[in-house]
Amino acid sequence: MSKKRVLSIQSHVVYGYVGNKVATYPLQLLGYDVDPLNSVQFSNHTGYKTFKGPISNEKELASITEGLEENELLSHYSHLLTGYIGNPLFLRQVAVIVKKLRQLNPQLIYVCDPVMGDNGQLYVPKELLPIYRDEIIPLADIITPNQYEVELLTGKEVRSETAVWEAMDWFHKELHIKTVVISSSDLGQPGVLRAFLSQQDGPRLAIDIPKQGGKNLVFTGTGDLFASLFLAHSHTEDVSLAFEKTIASLQAVIKRTVASLPQGGDGPVKAWERELKLVQSKAEIEKPQVLLKAQRL
Ligand code: ATP
Ligand code: PLP
Ligand code: MG
Ligand code: MG
Repeated sequence: MSKKRVLSIQSHVVYGYVGNKVATYPLQLLGYDVDPLNSVQFSNHTGYKTFKGPISNEKELASITEGLEENELLSHYSHLLTGYIGNPLFLRQVAVIVKKLRQLNPQLIYVCDPVMGDNGQLYVPKELLPIYRDEIIPLADIITPNQYEVELLTGKEVRSETAVWEAMDWFHKELHIKTVVISSSDLGQPGVLRAFLSQQDGPRLAIDIPKQGGKNLVFTGTGDLFASLFLAHSHTEDVSLAFEKTIASLQAVIKRTVASLPQGGDGPVKAWERELKLVQSKAEIEKPQVLLKAQRL
């Protein structure tokens, strides 16, 4: 059995880099076999003027895993990674798959990015929230919610660092999650994104990330890239170094993306121009140079 094989259940886009399109290459560069299972196949990410393409249902998901099971391939996975999932029944079927994978490999590591929304706005049906909270997240080892998703899951506002650590403890104590990472928050100084990591029986860490690009410049796929890089590094490195290396590679990808923009992104920017310069950042994914250090709190 391969020790580094990821089943990655996320979206596929034909053009650009989110979901499985952004997760697969870094995981491969870092030595993982990756088996992408696509939850949707869209023309492009949802931040464009329009997007088209089919959404997979729970029957299709069950059928694909049935094929893997019949060929005795399900026991090959060391990791499961899940990202954007838009329908409640599909998410329920994911719970069935996690249990099956773990039965076949009790050491399975499940990294769950509970994608529901950002900045106070839900972008999935609200029925997904209780399923994530009560059925999916309790099965995960590592979760990567954003600040808003933490608020949804805990049912409490997260407007201070104290609230962050209270929420982290809630995940550890009530849902028994080993590692919780909030990959960015607005709790830093102006112009700084502050990321947090908390481990059950482990350290509490924070990294301050100077915001790159102009005020209104947002990147899509960075959350998905974060989850895949963190999965890769946390398997082989100490958690603090895994956190630092993940952010180091992300910063390099974003820096190259900003540098490619007309007027460095100060003028109007088209959606395709903001697509991450992922392939071009091979070296920084393989050998991240840690410039932003984690603070131990
Ligand atoms: P989600 O994608 O689920 O909303 P999130 O809000 O935590 O998650 P992002 O805000 O995209 O995700 O941040 C993920 C990572 O991307 C951060 O840890 C940071 O390293 C990087 N990042 C994103 N935007 C910027 C930026 N403008 N400048 C510097 N780093 C950024
Ligand atoms: N998957 C799809 C299809 C999307 O449209 C998006 C964002 O628009 C994402 C995933 C998530 O991207 P991010 O990593 O920025 O959260
Ligand atoms: Mg975000
Ligand atoms: Mg996300």
